[in-house]
Amino acid sequence: MKMKFGTKAIHGGLEPDSATGAIMTPIYQTSTFVQNGVGNHKGYAYSRTQNPTRHALEENIAQLENGKFGACFGSGMAAIDCVLKLFNPGDEIISTNDLYGGTYRIFKTIFEKYGLKFHFVGMENALEIETYINANTKMIWVETPTNPLLNIIDITACAEIAQQNNILLAVDNTFATPFLQNPLDLGADIVMHSVTKYLGGHSDVVMGALVCNDENIAKEIYRIQNSSGAITSPMDAFLVLRGIKTLHVRMQRHCENGKQVAEFLKSHPKVDKVYWPGFEDHPNHQIAKTQMRDYGGMLSFTLKENRLEDAHQMLENMHIFALAESLGGVESLSGHPATMTHGAIPKEEREKIGIVDSMIRLSVGIEDVTDLIEDLENALNKLN
Ligand SMILES: *Cc1c(COP(=O)(O)O)cnc(C)c1O
Repeated sequence: MKMKFGTKAIHGGLEPDSATGAIMTPIYQTSTFVQNGVGNHKGYAYSRTQNPTRHALEENIAQLENGKFGACFGSGMAAIDCVLKLFNPGDEIISTNDLYGGTYRIFKTIFEKYGLKFHFVGMENALEIETYINANTKMIWVETPTNPLLNIIDITACAEIAQQNNILLAVDNTFATPFLQNPLDLGADIVMHSVTKYLGGHSDVVMGALVCNDENIAKEIYRIQNSSGAITSPMDAFLVLRGIKTLHVRMQRHCENGKQVAEFLKSHPKVDKVYWPGFEDHPNHQIAKTQMRDYGGMLSFTLKENRLEDAHQMLENMHIFALAESLGGVESLSGHPATMTHGAIPKEEREKIGIVDSMIRLSVGIEDVTDLIEDLENALNKLN
């Protein structure tokens, strides 16, 4: 039976526990597994290599992304680290320029040292990518919607370019989640998640995941996962299995609340720009409409008076929106990209792409939306 999303979130890849019938996957808090004889075990030998709780989660996330193979890591960054280890010195990667700060940092300060070369490209026009392709190019790295500008990149167009040039396409699908967008269906080779965010959904776990359909890529991912050892724990795998069971319900509410908050901000006189792909005048709205099922709960806005101190005051005056790194939990969070998530990007480069001092990013949670709007309204009205 081909299950629909909400059914897969609850049942995908999961069986009652074979030993006891427990309906919830137990936390197999063990490092090793007793073997019947040398080389004769029940599929698990050592928990770095594979653990039943992690395995259940990997199957579940793979199904949500309509992929065959899933792998979970100790953080989103560890998942990205694994993807980069697929390559060799001299290989080149073309990446989105409006990128999660930590991804930019691992590209520039870790993997450049080992001989990988990165090009950062505005991909809103996918054809731009082609001018950077040469014989050494091995991968296109896409993040969409982008962070914090909520630009939308056409995954299908990127996949066509990747296929024509025989290179891989990897998509960081953290912001959209598999509920809104499935990059493998659009032609991507690898999907990456910071599970920390919407998949976990409760701000209690740091985790990453990769999903792919190609067996050879999967073998390499599992080899690196086992060799480098950046795995996630059975306890965290359990928490995320539990979190994912409500992913579809949470995402629906994130989308509804996000829309109302975006519309409120757009109508407020102290707000300059609101970045949210659901607006018809968003520059990439048509692509968003085609490749996403809804527009999500992430948005950013700037103030008419582009002053750092106004942004700081606004952030301090919000009480339901908590000032914190991260996103995608049930509770609403606010952030200041210029000093927080994008602090690692030099000021000049950050302003070139529009991340100005007054920009505030919101992760709209699933609280009562009238309270969220009131919180924003109060904070805006307090600005002089
Ligand atoms: C948070 C995040 C990451 C990094 O994931 P961690 O789980 O924090 O290591 C990567 N990409 C995006 C888009 C993120 O939001």
